[in-house]
Amino acid sequence: MTLLKNLGIELNGVIRDACRRVVVINSAGSFLLTDNEPIISVVSRDEFDNYLLSNALKIGAEYLVDRVIRVNVHGEYVNVVGMNNTYTGRYVIAADGANSVIAKQLGNDIRRNTAMAFMTIAHGSYLNDACIIDMTRIKWGYSWVFPRGNGEYDVGIGSIHWGNYKTQLIKYIGELGLREGDVRGHPIPIRARDKLVSKRIALVGDAAGLADPTTGEGIFYAMYSGALAALALRHSSNPAEFANNYLGGY
Ligand SMILES: Cc1cc2nc3c(=O)[nH]c(=O)nc-3n(C[C@H](O)[C@H](O)[C@H](O)COP(=O)(O)OP(=O)(O)OC[C@H]3O[C@@H](n4cnc5c(N)ncnc54)[C@H](O)[C@@H]3O)c2cc1C
Repeated sequence: MTLLKNLGIELNGVIRDACRRVVVINSAGSFLLTDNEPIISVVSRDEFDNYLLSNALKIGAEYLVDRVIRVNVHGEYVNVVGMNNTYTGRYVIAADGANSVIAKQLGNDIRRNTAMAFMTIAHGSYLNDACIIDMTRIKWGYSWVFPRGNGEYDVGIGSIHWGNYKTQLIKYIGELGLREGDVRGHPIPIRARDKLVSKRIALVGDAAGLADPTTGEGIFYAMYSGALAALALRHSSNPAEFANNYLGGY
C-alpha cells in the first residue's frame, strides 16, 4: 500500500474488503490480531491488474497484446519475438510470471524452488468478517479465508511441498459451509533465480523468483522489483546516483 502511494496510485476504488481482524491458527492455538488500520486488504486480481494498467496507460505506457516466445539481444537494442510480431526496444524488463519463458531463456530451471497454491472464490453466508490464516491444515504451508464482500470469500491452500491440495481445499470449503467456484492452482517461485540479469534483460517478480518463501506473498515483491528495474534504467547513465538514492549507497 505504501509503495503504491509512493508511486501516486490510490487503491480505494479497488479494495474489496479490508480486514482489521485476522485470526492466526497454529500448533500453539488460535490468536486474534486486531488493528484500527487494515492488516490485510483484499482485491480482485482482474480489477487490481486492470487498474494498474489504466494508471500506466494514463502516464504514457503503450499496451500491446502478444505471447512472447523469446528475446534476441543485439548490441544496442533488443528484439522481443512474439507470436504475432517482433518488438524492438533498448531493454526488456521481464515480468512474465512463474512460468517465465525469458527466465528459462536465461538458463534458469524454473521448476526448482517453487511452492504450489490452489484457490477459489467461494460463496455463502459464512458470518465472519475476519481473515483467517490456518497453519494446522497442511504441512509446510497454510490455508486462508479472506472475505471479499457480497458473500464472497477468497479461500486457498498453499505449501512448499506439492500435493493434491485441490481435494483438501474442496473439503475445507465444505467444512466452512461455503460453495466453491472454479478451483485454480499455480506455482509460486520462492527463491531468486540463479540468473536475474543478462545484458539488456532483467527479470522481476515471479519471473525472478521473488515471492516470500514463508507466506507466498508475491505482489509487493513483483511491483517493487519492477519499480526498481525501471528506476535503474532511468538512472543507468548515473549508477552512483541510483545507488545513493534507492539502495542506501550499495
Ligand atoms: C493461489 C495463489 C494465491 C496467491 N495469493 C497471493 C496474495 O494473497 N498476496 C500476494 O501478494 N501474492 C499472492 N500470490 C502470489 C502472486 O500471485 C504472485 O507472486 C504475483 O502475481 C507475481 O506477479 P508477476 O507480475 O510477477 O506475475 P503474474 O501476476 O503471474 O503476471 C505475469 C503475466 O505475464 C503474462 N505472461 C506469461 N507468459 C507470457 C508470455 N510468454 N508472453 C506474454 N505474456 C506472458 C501472464 O499472462 C501474466 O499476465 C498468490 C499466488 C497463487 C498461485
